[in-house]
Amino acid sequence: MRTQVAIIGAGPAGLLLAQLLNQQGIDSVILEARSRHYIENRVRAGVLEHQSVDILNEAGVGARMMREGLVHDGVIIQFAGVAHRIDLASLTGHGVMIYGQQEVVKDLVEARIQSGRPLYFEVDNVSIHDFDADAPYVKFRHHGAEQRLDCDFVAGCDGFHGVCRASLPPSRIELFERVYPFAWLGILADAEPASEELIYAHHERGFALLSMRSEAVSRLYLQCKPDENLDEWPDDRVWDELQKRFDRSDGFQLRVGPITQKSVTPMRSFVAEPMRHGRLFLTGDAAHIVPPTGAKGMNLAIADVKVLSLALGAHYHESRDDRLESFSAVCLRRIWKVQRFSWWMTSMLHQFDEDNAFDRRRQIAELDYVVTSKVASQSLAENYIGLPLDPNGG
Ligand SMILES: Cc1cc2nc3c(=O)[nH]c(=O)nc-3n(C[C@H](O)[C@H](O)[C@H](O)COP(=O)(O)OP(=O)(O)OC[C@H]3O[C@@H](n4cnc5c(N)ncnc54)[C@H](O)[C@@H]3O)c2cc1C
Repeated sequence: MRTQVAIIGAGPAGLLLAQLLNQQGIDSVILEARSRHYIENRVRAGVLEHQSVDILNEAGVGARMMREGLVHDGVIIQFAGVAHRIDLASLTGHGVMIYGQQEVVKDLVEARIQSGRPLYFEVDNVSIHDFDADAPYVKFRHHGAEQRLDCDFVAGCDGFHGVCRASLPPSRIELFERVYPFAWLGILADAEPASEELIYAHHERGFALLSMRSEAVSRLYLQCKPDENLDEWPDDRVWDELQKRFDRSDGFQLRVGPITQKSVTPMRSFVAEPMRHGRLFLTGDAAHIVPPTGAKGMNLAIADVKVLSLALGAHYHESRDDRLESFSAVCLRRIWKVQRFSWWMTSMLHQFDEDNAFDRRRQIAELDYVVTSKVASQSLAENYIGLPLDPNGG
């Protein structure tokens, strides 16, 4: 079997890359370890930057998102029992779109099927070979049969635990990492969201986030221990703790409903440099992870593959490789700014150390500054809606 670009992983990065390449007439094969049902029901991100919305629309997969997604022009920052609205639209001219990652994945899988190009689910034993030479290839097993896929390039879109980054010898890759001393206990509930906009709540019992996936489904998170045992969190305890952390002087009340999913998400900042190794390109979570406080993970994956698709287009259609050569530097320049923002939001909103009264006062002062200074609010808003993406790296 032969293709131009072998894409490992059918998350947002791999599927969108395939679609952007298809629009340019470039052939690809996608290899995905899980089933279609699994990836289309994996609940994760839900906030799309305005540029991500534009990229998905330009890719021809935005119609349902524009119909069903919720446009948010502001976010709420809550601390000391008072809610403060950051008006994203008036501060930046843009808002964000609430549309679940699993919905983005469904739209992309549908587009892939329509394109008639191959997408193999439930492959295993994937290994990548000779990516330093001119003729890389990928080996994998599908329905028990060993296969070989020859290609020009390999796109490593296989997430944090994938095989592509792991195939590189440690001497070729520099890792930067910060692991946080807490995690998020996340729930999905069949309950109308209690707020029209996301609420980021600082509380001495720990951070909490109110988000949503639709007008009928709430997504809520609680700061918890990294090794939190979900068995100790029956639904009543989750709602009770959430209500305590969202407690407000204006009597705000959560809307409760059946919890349909519960999970613990570790918090990590991580970057692997560089993102190109010969004919292997790492994108999305395969190359970097951000703590979800800034709502950036899926957006970074989308930005990476936009840059890579243009670089591959220049290779095939203009016989130019300068964009492939600058891919890693162009992406990393923006990624590090997004890392900084995600770390900053995380540091400002979470409890790090129960005994550190100084840090708590400092956090409150910082939050107070952010919501009362127009310049500080604008800085948060500019990062939240998404820093400009210049695929040429200018
Ligand atoms: C609870 C939670 C909340 C989040 N909230 C947000 C948010 O609000 N906003 C935001 O922008 N981001 C958020 N994120 C992050 C976001 O979900 C990820 O950054 C995003 O999924 C990255 O996409 P990706 O395509 O790079 O990787 P993935 O989505 O991880 O996709 C990688 C794919 O590769 C497949 N794969 C792995 N190994 C192999 C292999 N060996 N062979 C073949 N296939 C393989 C996997 O099955 C998977 O389908 C959140 C994440 C979590 C966990």
